[in-house]
Amino acid sequence: MKLDDRIRDVPGVGPKRERALNDGGIFTVEDLLAHFPKQYIDRSRRGTFAAPSETAVTIEACVSRKGTVRRIRRNLSLFGLSVTTDDGVTGQITFFNQPWLAEHFHEEARYYFFGRITEKKGKCGMANPQFVPVDKPGNFFELTPVYAPVGGVSGETLRKLIAKMLAEDIAVSDPLPETLRKDRCLPDRAACLKLLHRPQTMTEVATGRTRLKFEEALKLNLGLLRSRGETRRSSVVLAHPASLSRFERGLPFLLTEGQRRVLAEIAADLQSGRIMNRLVQGDVGSGKTVVAVACAYLMALGGYQCAYMAPTEILAEQHARNFEAYLAPYGISVTLVTGSMKASERENALTHIANGDAQVIIGTHALFQKDMAYYNLGMVITDEQHRFGVRQRGLLALKGERPHTLVMSATPIPRTLALVLYGDLDISVIDTMPAGRKKVKTYFYTEKALRKILGMMAVEMAAGHQGFIVCPFVENAEEMAEVRDTQTVCREVDRYYKGLYRVACLHGKMKPDEKAAVVADFSAGKIDCLVATNIIEVGIDVPNVTMMVVMSADRFGLSQLHQLRGRVGRGDAQAYCFLVSNAVNEKTIARMKVIVNHHNGQEIAEADFKLRGPGDAFGTRQHGLPALSALDPAADAALLAETRAIAEQLLASPKAEDMACCDALTRAFDHGVEQISMN
Ligand code: ADP
Ligand code: MG
Repeated sequence: MKLDDRIRDVPGVGPKRERALNDGGIFTVEDLLAHFPKQYIDRSRRGTFAAPSETAVTIEACVSRKGTVRRIRRNLSLFGLSVTTDDGVTGQITFFNQPWLAEHFHEEARYYFFGRITEKKGKCGMANPQFVPVDKPGNFFELTPVYAPVGGVSGETLRKLIAKMLAEDIAVSDPLPETLRKDRCLPDRAACLKLLHRPQTMTEVATGRTRLKFEEALKLNLGLLRSRGETRRSSVVLAHPASLSRFERGLPFLLTEGQRRVLAEIAADLQSGRIMNRLVQGDVGSGKTVVAVACAYLMALGGYQCAYMAPTEILAEQHARNFEAYLAPYGISVTLVTGSMKASERENALTHIANGDAQVIIGTHALFQKDMAYYNLGMVITDEQHRFGVRQRGLLALKGERPHTLVMSATPIPRTLALVLYGDLDISVIDTMPAGRKKVKTYFYTEKALRKILGMMAVEMAAGHQGFIVCPFVENAEEMAEVRDTQTVCREVDRYYKGLYRVACLHGKMKPDEKAAVVADFSAGKIDCLVATNIIEVGIDVPNVTMMVVMSADRFGLSQLHQLRGRVGRGDAQAYCFLVSNAVNEKTIARMKVIVNHHNGQEIAEADFKLRGPGDAFGTRQHGLPALSALDPAADAALLAETRAIAEQLLASPKAEDMACCDALTRAFDHGVEQISMN
């Protein structure tokens, strides 16, 4: 057989299994062999009952007493053995729901038992261990690969299919140039397949993984560098970004050092004659909006249109008002386009956009619908809040426009991970906060304290400030019992304030114009306390809000809580944030403490990362990047940086071998990118 043979040609794969494997992305023998074990069972580690509890070991023991099968319930039976090891320690082996095993064991017989040591009331034991008689160990001590199922095909079936293919000794060519492999002491691909699918020791697995990781890191870098392409020429060139200082003089505040530096970087891009692709990263409240406004100003001065894409309609409307306030003094027009506009309004807006009367255009992804035509779009700014934007960029590429692009993100991501997620972007960081910003004082309480908290909020409101109460968005009605929803909370709060303060509700199920009306009233100070679902729906910039209460706070991600908290404390007054949850357990307390004690998004992201473990916080899959089986972008930061340099060399190399390597490794990547721009 050959690597590029169809999977249906593998003995044991019929039409049904072929379809299932295809669904899981396995089309060829090569794909099958690239499905590596997710773990290995290593029964070679010997131990005794004295091994630390929860560690998996193999113990050798003699059955000292055999119990009888007990039926606990209809679907639960128990069967126990007392076993004694050579050091005279007795432990209890328990088998659940395997009554037939009672026949199998004999007193005085010796067995190897493999499992996790458990400890209960000072007595050690194992539950449902794997076992063999000592005199017939067979292949018990060999490493057993465990495969994840694919498209409904079980891991065990995959193991058999893969073993069959390995036994065939298929010719495997290696995409990595030999010199590179030798330099790094990496096994060739054929050896790597055997090391990972059929290892003798865990050291062999480690060697195989080193190669796999290297290949994946190189692949990622090659793909990203390729998709960035040759630096493309841009016809949108601005000659006089010196006018930035005029813009700054018109602001009610001085720009922070971070804002100034980022703007200088952008201005340099705009003069360079190359297309700008830049990510601006800055914590909530660091003042990204004014940077975007400055860009729109520069574009308008240069005679180009600038589009600003917000994640929600509410935010788009708000930004339109904001931009207008900044830009109207210069006679620059701001046009809002949303999906919920009246047809006639929308028609009117589209006409202005097409004939160039509209200079700054603000909206949601509706900005890039088919019927949109721009007069001369010079820059697109995407505000992603805490979302990653591979998708939007794909959207733009489809549009066939070549404007400068600026992506704004509040998600603090480790530098190296940014390299992976945004490898084709330059990165600017706003690392300073506007002066005089006070830390939001943050507390964690159970619901018992709610009346007191509402009392504090009354004090704030009496002083003319406003408050937010945030509830998690609940889709599942059955969950309602323990999680607090907006409508119920709104009623309770309203009852509590007895009409002294104006309380209103804002949630996803309301009609767009109802939402807009509530937001407008709140911004205008006609509502004192707003009860709302999370930031996705709200994202309101009202500096007068000094207090936020987050109900069922355990339901939110830590970075999300940090983003939410960024909605208060935008003015000069001291602001407060109360995290409220009745889920008082160790995990919740640890998580809430992170928010109470930290005020920096980067620190919170890292703490979150530690609490949740890698892969979860920053899974690469969801960002539309190729699936990684060995590489962990966060943990393998150094490798990513190293392979970037190698990728650059390979791409620049005229050697046939190096070019072939680049082609072979980027194939998978191109496939991934195609999929992104299609959805
Ligand atoms: P974010 O980065 O979260 O989008 P915003 O752009 O909404 O932050 O800015 C938060 C608040 O800080 C706004 O009210 C804005 O007017 C104000 N602001 C921005 N830059 C400065 C500055 N240099 N000095 C003082 N206030 C600023
Ligand atoms: Mg913002």
